[in-house]
Amino acid sequence: MTSPDTYTPKMIRVSIGSAIVLGLVQGNLDVLPTTIYLLTYKDGKCSANCGFCPQAKTSKSRADMLSRVTWPSFPAPQVFDAIENAAKQDKIKRVCIQALNYPTVFDDVLNVVARIRSKCQTPISVSCQPVNLERMKRLAEAGVERIGIPLDAATEEIFDKVKGKLVSGPYVWSRQFEALENAVQVFGRGIVSTHLIVGLGETEKEMTSIIQHCKDMGVYPGLFAFTPIAGTTLESLAPPSLEHYRRIQLARYLIVQGKTRYESMRFDKDERIVDFGVSKEVLQEAIRSSVPFLTSGCPNCNRPYYNEKPGGPLFNYPRAPTEKEVEEIEKVFKQ
Ligand code: SF4
Repeated sequence: MTSPDTYTPKMIRVSIGSAIVLGLVQGNLDVLPTTIYLLTYKDGKCSANCGFCPQAKTSKSRADMLSRVTWPSFPAPQVFDAIENAAKQDKIKRVCIQALNYPTVFDDVLNVVARIRSKCQTPISVSCQPVNLERMKRLAEAGVERIGIPLDAATEEIFDKVKGKLVSGPYVWSRQFEALENAVQVFGRGIVSTHLIVGLGETEKEMTSIIQHCKDMGVYPGLFAFTPIAGTTLESLAPPSLEHYRRIQLARYLIVQGKTRYESMRFDKDERIVDFGVSKEVLQEAIRSSVPFLTSGCPNCNRPYYNEKPGGPLFNYPRAPTEKEVEEIEKVFKQ
């Protein structure tokens, strides 16, 4: 293992929107990311094989992509200096470090955290594969504020198909939960996140059930809409319908806010949500607020256009929806 004091990764990937905010590249954005998204750098692909991911080892996609976003690489010291400057100018609210899977990734993440922490006090989130309790503690000691361990799938069966043994991936459903439990022990309830991807073949009932399970564990679930990327195993799978996604967004919001529970909700024969288990007034107030339809994740994570083209349809709003957009959202729940 390399010492954080003597070693810094040479290169790091930065999401294109974050690179623009940091002044590393020129460009125009209609919505600025409020979090700086970094991705650990390695030559070649990740050693895992998640079916939806352009970084997966058997994917034929470009190596500088994650979801539909490009992640150009830069010398790491240049990125750390740019983060320091942006923090001084109050341009950024959080830094999110996402980790590929490769043998030395833990050292890379730990060192990136230490370098950023030596430059500014901007909160740092890390999204990584399961690590043991001792490593979780080291991340916390290095200054990581929040940690995320992705489940991605709503059920074990789907997990095995897209991330686990059926795609020769290293991940095991039960180990993701062990890691999430360890993370809650180290970081605290509600300070640990997971990602769930809607549209991998799950029903609304299954997705709602796992959201409730996460909430009960003290884990905060953030939602993504499945986005087919050319060259990945799942390139031919269609994205979820907007209606399916909106219902799950609303259910997630109501469960996370403690306004309903999975057990209070009702589903039809196709396991679609037909009753959210709250009064009409509570439901309407939640929809009108439009908060359920914003990007969900760590505080100040807006991930502009991660799942969607800027022209829409917008699965996750990176900014408050306009009045017209709220009316469109309301129509979904009047059907
Ligand atoms: S571990 Fe992350 S980066 Fe690697 S293939 Fe899976 S989703 Fe992609």
